[in-house]
Amino acid sequence: MGVPSIFLRTFGCNFTCDGFGMPLGEKSQERHQIPIANYQTYDGLPLVSSGCDSYASWMPEFKHLSPMLTVDAIADRVCDLLPYGEWRDEHLVITGGEPLLGWQRAYPDLLNHPKMQGLKEITFETNGTQSLSDELKSYLHQWRKKNSNREITFSISAKLPCSGEKWEDAICPQIICEYEWFGTAYLKFVVANEQDVLDAQRAVDEYRQAGFTGHVYLMPVGGVESVYVLNNKTVALEALKHGWRYSDRLQVPLFKNAWAT
Ligand code: SF4
Repeated sequence: MGVPSIFLRTFGCNFTCDGFGMPLGEKSQERHQIPIANYQTYDGLPLVSSGCDSYASWMPEFKHLSPMLTVDAIADRVCDLLPYGEWRDEHLVITGGEPLLGWQRAYPDLLNHPKMQGLKEITFETNGTQSLSDELKSYLHQWRKKNSNREITFSISAKLPCSGEKWEDAICPQIICEYEWFGTAYLKFVVANEQDVLDAQRAVDEYRQAGFTGHVYLMPVGGVESVYVLNNKTVALEALKHGWRYSDRLQVPLFKNAWAT
């Protein structure tokens, strides 16, 4: 948090997470009620108070907002956002949707691009269900060996039952253990109530049993401020109680979670 970051948002996800902000077992309908034809860009898209708050990055109905770009064009667009025209302290966050779907095949070319040479920190924001392809593994391995001053982080937002996704699909210990071979990895659970914290504990136990050693964060549910402020302090106290870390949602108080923040 607080690090100047450029977000590269890939399109598509293997989940829908319609359970967030809903009573257990119920699915949010909010994303289906958005008048899609009114929006030709991400700017101004409505925020939702239930379900996935980045719905437009994977719902097929919003695909027209995410153009298919060449690696050169992506590198240009990313570097156009650098405030000094060169990489300094800026961090590249590759997010989604789920950025470790088929897009994995484009990352070696993107990260090797001449314009990306000064980049020192990369984070993949993933739901922790996707194995790394052999090609990406070999690339990350070589990349770390050659560039010891570069850091790769996997921020794993594993989905608990409150997301509406099934445990067996969402909690994949062997997969996230593999991420730790190629960089720093930590877990981040979005929670709203006591049951979610119990579920987080159960998931952490499974991950630890498989050998995962990274830190664990709790983050309050709440894509809109009115929901977020209801439980952020309680969640921070729960994190303390379990010996875990607390992750705020800085984009909510600072930018009201607007798209592109
Ligand atoms: S995994 Fe993330 S991007 Fe995908 S539906 Fe769930 S919250 Fe949204």
